[in-house]
Amino acid sequence: MMFGGVKLAYNVKFDKKVISTVSNKEVYYAAVDIVADIVEGEDVVSHLPEAEINTVVTINDTVDSCDIVADAIIDNTDEIVSASRLIVGGNSLGCANTEDLNTSLENRKNCYNIVGFDCESEFCDDVIIEEGFFLKSELGDISELSESIAALNVKTTVKETCEQYIPYKTVTNKTDDKPAGYVGTEQAGEYGISVVTSGIVYINGVENGRVTLSSEVTKEPVDEIITVGTTRPEKGKVVSKGFLFPLPSGVWEVSCPYGKGGHGGVDLRAPQGTTVMAVASGTVTLAGVYRDYGNCVIVDHGNGISTLYAHASRLCVKEGDTVTAGEVIALVGSTGNSTGNHLHFEVYVGDNRVNPQPYIGLK
Ligand SMILES: [Zn+2]
Repeated sequence: MMFGGVKLAYNVKFDKKVISTVSNKEVYYAAVDIVADIVEGEDVVSHLPEAEINTVVTINDTVDSCDIVADAIIDNTDEIVSASRLIVGGNSLGCANTEDLNTSLENRKNCYNIVGFDCESEFCDDVIIEEGFFLKSELGDISELSESIAALNVKTTVKETCEQYIPYKTVTNKTDDKPAGYVGTEQAGEYGISVVTSGIVYINGVENGRVTLSSEVTKEPVDEIITVGTTRPEKGKVVSKGFLFPLPSGVWEVSCPYGKGGHGGVDLRAPQGTTVMAVASGTVTLAGVYRDYGNCVIVDHGNGISTLYAHASRLCVKEGDTVTAGEVIALVGSTGNSTGNHLHFEVYVGDNRVNPQPYIGLK
């Protein structure tokens, strides 16, 4: 029956309280069917309160749809509660209050965490919580699920972060601008640093292995760059300014160049007994133990130039001898203040000690 903008409808009451308004009773019965479908439990309908359905006058658009009526029935039935089902590996283990279930699962998941460490935990099992509506009378207490929850397998990862050094590379540049044996550092090497985060994995509190979770380079290493000299004059060859090289070729190397740490000569490392030759002709002005030089020979070449040969194992000339260029005057040794077999060679111009290297072809 229509009266302009109004029509007849039905109020649904639970315990004298209007819970919805429907256009006809069939809508209410359809809503009851929906509730019976949604809510888990035996014979849900018998648990609903007795509905009182009365005719009322209402305007067209204030009647409720089935779904809204179903929600109203659920909201107004004390016997129906919202709760969750615990499903593990596809099997339902039971239902309980959602909050109680979540709390209980979180407690189980975190029970192997170590205080003071950054821990991450998860279930090894496939754990699903399915929310829904249940009959209160059939809903179990959380304590009924505690045994099942305590049996869930837990994987705990305890994170550790540490810094690790990254070694640097050494790049060697060879140059014939420097004598053999010369080693100079062009660029000092620097270690790099990486921050590595690793995890110790525990299964139910028992260590199961370690994994690298992340690695970040916070400082790149810097290459060490060194220069190695390769120049090696030949024996008997006039190498510079009319001078010969004082040692046979192939047996020596520069172990300490002139000027390094105030070094007054050049050190030529060579096996003990290697022949030491006068670099030019002249007169022996000293042959004997001399200061820190050990067994030492000095040869005066005239024009104010003289040469000195130190640390010899043996001397082959004596003071006042005249020597020719290339004549053996001593044998290599390690006498005096010396840490190994070598020839320490000096050149004097007047009273000044000068860089001897250009005189014997070393740069
Ligand atoms: Zn020296």
